[in-house]
Amino acid sequence: MAEAILELGQVTKRFERTLAAHRLSLTVYRGEFFTFLGPSGSGKSTILRMIAGLEQPDSGHIRIAGKDVGTVPPWRRNVGMVFQHYAVFPHMNVTQNVGYGLRVRRRPAAEIRERVSGLLRLVGLAGMAEKNVTLLSGGEQQRVALARALALEPALLLLDEPLAALDEKIRREMQAELKHIQQKTGTTFLYVTHDQEEALTMSDRIAVLDGGACVQCDAPERLFRRPRTRFVASFFRGCNIVAADLLGREAGRARVGIAGQAVTVPADGVALPDRPRIDVAIRAEHLRVGRGAETCQTRLDAGLVEVIYRGTNVDHVLELPDGQRVVATSTQREAEGMGPRVACGFNADDVILLED
Ligand code: ADP
Repeated sequence: MAEAILELGQVTKRFERTLAAHRLSLTVYRGEFFTFLGPSGSGKSTILRMIAGLEQPDSGHIRIAGKDVGTVPPWRRNVGMVFQHYAVFPHMNVTQNVGYGLRVRRRPAAEIRERVSGLLRLVGLAGMAEKNVTLLSGGEQQRVALARALALEPALLLLDEPLAALDEKIRREMQAELKHIQQKTGTTFLYVTHDQEEALTMSDRIAVLDGGACVQCDAPERLFRRPRTRFVASFFRGCNIVAADLLGREAGRARVGIAGQAVTVPADGVALPDRPRIDVAIRAEHLRVGRGAETCQTRLDAGLVEVIYRGTNVDHVLELPDGQRVVATSTQREAEGMGPRVACGFNADDVILLED
């Protein structure tokens, strides 16, 4: 059984009228890469700040390595932090920055030297030990901040949008590297981002936050394939949300009407509403157009509104018979040479029922 390194129990925090955390309960296990994903204002930073001890919850409890940290000050919690803006010490060189915490803790000089050079190798800064940090690029400064936080071997490393200020290419590189460093050190990472792709790429598990509440906590693949609510589904690019009729239910499945066509779709574990309407999600790559629709279980007659070339993929904007618009993505122009009416197809198992 994996060891729980962080336990949040019914943690609630309110700022006047805003709920920054709402009865948040979850467990993070040692060695996990755990991500809080949510839009701006959903409470991600406040939650990290409470775990770090920089903010106090109104109610609920936080345990780190089995110990309630309610009255424990930040510097005794054994957590490290890396922020979006490089919090490096400008008057120190790279080595001095990384060794700072170890010097404050009066570790022997030989141990500091050895540890710092190991960390610089780990974060890819081995050749820059004596460099002034202000001369480093943004990505390099974040490596310094990361190495400095790792130097004290924290039980938990909290990372608050650490890559958000970097440009796209460096960000992608750093994502892969962060994951690599996390695996190599075995440190538990608690990561905050609003970027769904970043969360999917790096995390072992993701908690999706909405108004301070956790609306779904799952492994990336599960979250991507089976978003539980409209909020979670709409977070992932390429997810069509379609209003459907709820026609009936049977063991593990439900019968829904999508733009007038009845389809029996998986409903395992879904809390179906009492009213006759339900939202469903269908990923854009699961909708097929024209000839591609011929092998699908369900086919609808749709209007072709627009074809958008996106390089690797082509988006087909379609209007379903009931007027709802959806996007079908494929690797080629499936509707090439077709008229204004096209077939749109999908398979029942690719329809995801969404809870409220
Ligand atoms: P996120 O990190 O997801 O963007 P935050 O945790 O920063 O969200 O903020 C959650 C909500 O709490 C927001 O509505 C924000 O305005 C509010 N908030 C955060 N800190 C404070 C504060 N010190 N005083 C008042 N409101 C705050």
